[in-house]
Amino acid sequence: MGCRNACVFCSQRAITGVDCAEPDLESELRRIRATVEQAIPTLGGSDAEIAFFGGSFTGIGEERMIAFLRCAREYLGGNIKGIRCSTRPDYIDGRICGILKENGVTSVELGIQSTDDAVLAASKRGHTAAQSEKACELLARYGFELGGQMMVGMPLANEQSEIKTARDIVAFGASTCRIYPMVVFKDTPLYEMTLAGEYTPLTNEEAARRAAACARVFIDSGVEILRIGLHSSGNLSEAPFGANHPALGELAEGEIYYGIIREKIASSGARASSLTAVVPYGELSKCIGHKGINRERLEAEFGAKINFVRYKGLNKYDVRILSEITSY
Ligand code: SF4
Repeated sequence: MGCRNACVFCSQRAITGVDCAEPDLESELRRIRATVEQAIPTLGGSDAEIAFFGGSFTGIGEERMIAFLRCAREYLGGNIKGIRCSTRPDYIDGRICGILKENGVTSVELGIQSTDDAVLAASKRGHTAAQSEKACELLARYGFELGGQMMVGMPLANEQSEIKTARDIVAFGASTCRIYPMVVFKDTPLYEMTLAGEYTPLTNEEAARRAAACARVFIDSGVEILRIGLHSSGNLSEAPFGANHPALGELAEGEIYYGIIREKIASSGARASSLTAVVPYGELSKCIGHKGINRERLEAEFGAKINFVRYKGLNKYDVRILSEITSY
């Protein structure tokens, strides 16, 4: 709901699993209440937000948007710390920011996707990079936490334009981000472009590598990565082309760790026949990589046996290299 655009890759039904017909307001409000009330007992003391995702929330019409937000607002307090929504950069202006602010919204995620105008045009995004920048400025002025959503593998995009997009999102002031590798759904213009040979879909491996390259920009800038890859669903596995691996985020995390460990070994100057990578607890499988690919690549590259040891004292993405283990 809420989006009047038609991006070449968009199949709202395929992504959200629901039809886009506008349902009646009362039944939607009942559905919001039921969803939230069902979720609250499962929180187990954790903090949570109510989020309106899967389309362009600020495009659904003022009356409906305000009704939804007032409904969500009744649940604020206790474990529910805020309200989050996602929308398009061109559906943000001062009036909308005012409505969101008055009605309890704390975080806004913008579908920036790329900051290269040629890439945006090739996907018929219907907005420019300058509009994204302006929307981010406005959201920052109103005090919202800003989330930047970007894609890898868009038509005409390459690794350089994607890394630039990640840098721009950092410069626009985002504190969180999501990276979505392109997936080609049936019944979309991108599907036709793929069949016609006008677009070459990413393999899962390329998508993981390119997402990881962007992720490094965010990690190095302290921007929290909320997600890499679309949510796994029946629709995703039915996508005929593109990065439709159900655990693409894990593959990308493996690539991120490969890059980090590789740099750490190179900069440590360690020249031993056996090296130990001390990695954060809970991240071991990502560090070793899918089917041990990272270990294999690192051993070939550095001509050393690489051991992996988990250590609770390290934060995510923090890795240390030892050329020999003295005691543990
Ligand atoms: S902005 Fe989002 S919801 Fe609208 S057409 Fe593009 S992908 Fe679909």
